[in-house]
Amino acid sequence: MTGRWLELAGGVFARRYAELDLTVGLVVGAERALVIDTRGDGTQGAELARAVREVTALPLAVAITHGHFDHCFGTAGLLAEAGAGGGRTPVYAHHGCAGWLRDNIEPQRSHWVGYYRKRGDKESAAALAEAEVLLPDTPVEYEAEVDLGGRVATLLHPGRGHTDHDLAVHLPDCGVVFAGDLVEEGAPPAFEDADPLRWPDALDALLTLRPERVVPGHGEPVSAGFVAGQRAELITLAELCRGVLAGELAKSDVEAISPYPLSTTQMALSRI
Ligand SMILES: [Zn+2]
Repeated sequence: MTGRWLELAGGVFARRYAELDLTVGLVVGAERALVIDTRGDGTQGAELARAVREVTALPLAVAITHGHFDHCFGTAGLLAEAGAGGGRTPVYAHHGCAGWLRDNIEPQRSHWVGYYRKRGDKESAAALAEAEVLLPDTPVEYEAEVDLGGRVATLLHPGRGHTDHDLAVHLPDCGVVFAGDLVEEGAPPAFEDADPLRWPDALDALLTLRPERVVPGHGEPVSAGFVAGQRAELITLAELCRGVLAGELAKSDVEAISPYPLSTTQMALSRI
């Protein structure tokens, strides 16, 4: 079995994958369904489409949480397999996402094809090497409401954090927030494209929504308390980074007392 659906509230699903411990989402309204993230290549996107079609035949909209390949290289495969369902399928993302993605398709592709080849996973390497990457076509500046019929999904940019173009999805009717990689369960947050100083504020913005369940981009759905705990760690790290910027701390001091493993901390320090 490739993936498994978890129903978090009526018509609100997270789908979990062993591959990269990825988590995507599906929200079903009365007239339209919203898919949140599309997996990492055309084959994976098509698998997600078939799984979505087992849940709903409604026309789709897609929201991309950010431009990392595992969250959005599956869009073309998803749309081709799912069909339009009676109209154009809008692909929402933060307005900075399409440009960032355009510049980062090939660097991500070559890095991760290398990763899969090194693991001996030729199928994933080949699927990623050939993936047609569809750019999001419906930009969100700060916030947008998507009417799904009987329920509204709010797409919002909570500020710079995991990337400079993170987009979260809030369902006020059931208190679920899909946070993309702003929240990570089961592994430390990833800083490759992050803003370590501002990330805590982005989590503040999510916690202000008073969510009951938060769906991370990787790992199991979590509580607001978990997000507050991650925020506290990120505040500690941000304060340590500020100490380095002020000349009060050496990077080696930060590495010794950071709440995160060495490689994570070094990546964060490289971003300040
Ligand atoms: Zn990411």
